[in-house]
Amino acid sequence: MSKKEPKLKFNAAWELAPAPEDTKHISIKKQYDLFINGEFVKPNSKKYFATYNPATEEKIAEVADADERDVDKAVKAARVAFNSWSKLSGAERGKYIYRIARLMQERAREFAVIETMDGGKPIRESRDIDVPLAANHFFYYAGWADKLEYAFPNRNPKPLGVAGQIIPWNFPLLMAAWKIAPALAAGNTVVLKPAETTPLTALKLAELIRDSGLPKGVVNIITGAGKTGAAIVNHPDINKIAFTGSTDVGKLIQKSIAGSNKKLTLELGGKAANIIFEDAPLDQAVEGIINGIFFNQGHVCCAGSRLFIQESVADVVIRKLKDRMETLRVGDPMDKNTDVGAINSKEQLMKISEYIKIGKNEGAEMYQSSCSIPKKGYFCKPTLFLNTSQSHRIVQEEIFGPVLAIQTFRTIEEVIEKANNIPYGLSAGVWTDKGSKIFNLTTKLRAGVVWANTYNKFDPTSPFGGYKESGFGREGGLHGLAAYLEL
Ligand code: ADP
Repeated sequence: MSKKEPKLKFNAAWELAPAPEDTKHISIKKQYDLFINGEFVKPNSKKYFATYNPATEEKIAEVADADERDVDKAVKAARVAFNSWSKLSGAERGKYIYRIARLMQERAREFAVIETMDGGKPIRESRDIDVPLAANHFFYYAGWADKLEYAFPNRNPKPLGVAGQIIPWNFPLLMAAWKIAPALAAGNTVVLKPAETTPLTALKLAELIRDSGLPKGVVNIITGAGKTGAAIVNHPDINKIAFTGSTDVGKLIQKSIAGSNKKLTLELGGKAANIIFEDAPLDQAVEGIINGIFFNQGHVCCAGSRLFIQESVADVVIRKLKDRMETLRVGDPMDKNTDVGAINSKEQLMKISEYIKIGKNEGAEMYQSSCSIPKKGYFCKPTLFLNTSQSHRIVQEEIFGPVLAIQTFRTIEEVIEKANNIPYGLSAGVWTDKGSKIFNLTTKLRAGVVWANTYNKFDPTSPFGGYKESGFGREGGLHGLAAYLEL
């Protein structure tokens, strides 16, 4: 740990550090190199690309563009490190992982501010959700490192080797934690690539890992776009690929590793059904719908982007929903009162705008909150569509933005049929006063995660992952650990 880092005595790092919206104390370099074998090294091509603040359109920093030779260097470093890391006792590995978790808590504000600057999400979310959850993942998996034999009795757990990990831009730090923490606890080494629009918190994590004293080469973090990701996927000395991102790229990856010995987990798109029954606590349900679709600007693979309301309460729920949408504050992500921040990139804003057009052309009725949005930066008003039907593209396809498609239903059979009639199967939500209905639905909804009377709740102990085109394999909990072990 560098001498400049403040030492905090308790976990609530917020209370001692400067205000999150205060960016003076945040150190961001002008240019970032690749983190390979414990140090920052220049990319082979000498090329760098810019990362922007989507709320201001200003350039924040330049990051290295890794090519195949850089990937090869990172994989070689990880392979050498694997020899000793995998032989270290679980207790020793656990100590290193605990140290990463603690350092993350100490630097929590810095991570939160950078996450918000680079990705556009409200500071309140990065501060209260992303960063604490990321640290919790390291704490949780640190605890398993010396208990693998107990976790998987008589199954002789062994690490897989070098894991290539490719992550998206919606939860950059949290996804890095989901991937790195179980891999290390199981005794693997890692080459991780963050998304090209949000590389900065992963690079901050690289600095933290360097300061933590983790043995060189155990974690390598390299930056670049799709080509760099493909070079990781295709490297012959990688034993496991863990990918979170779009279904299209997931399919490509699956094809390109077919026939190899590489193990694969894919966490892909989603189009979750959030289902409200007439007996539900309606105000609470409306909060859940709002959170389900507008949290993180709807850039959430498990977002509740399809809403099903039982017909008898449809009018009242829609009225309450519109009223609540009016109170959402859209704008500066660095303002701690902001509810909906910036769309992650211009490309994503264009994609969302295109879907809004498609929805109107398909004949659905659009409603947007009357808020104003900043002139500069990439912003989208919270939007909902009424009178949609199963065949509409805005119902079938993942938009990954603050756009909700609403349908009504009469019977439980009808809503199960509609909820499942979709290529995806990642998550779903059920709102009802009746426990029996919850149990009935959770067994019939083809979704990896089903929330009841809540939504978007994450915890390191519970497995997360999908069915169908949402991918396969689970992250989180013991399932997430098993994905990094030969059993
Ligand atoms: P999105 O459409 O949400 O941007 P992507 O699936 O394109 O999601 O991106 C998720 C991650 O996958 C990013 O880190 C991106 O750079 C990476 N990626 C993109 N194309 C490929 C590819 N062909 N092979 C491996 N990784 C890729």
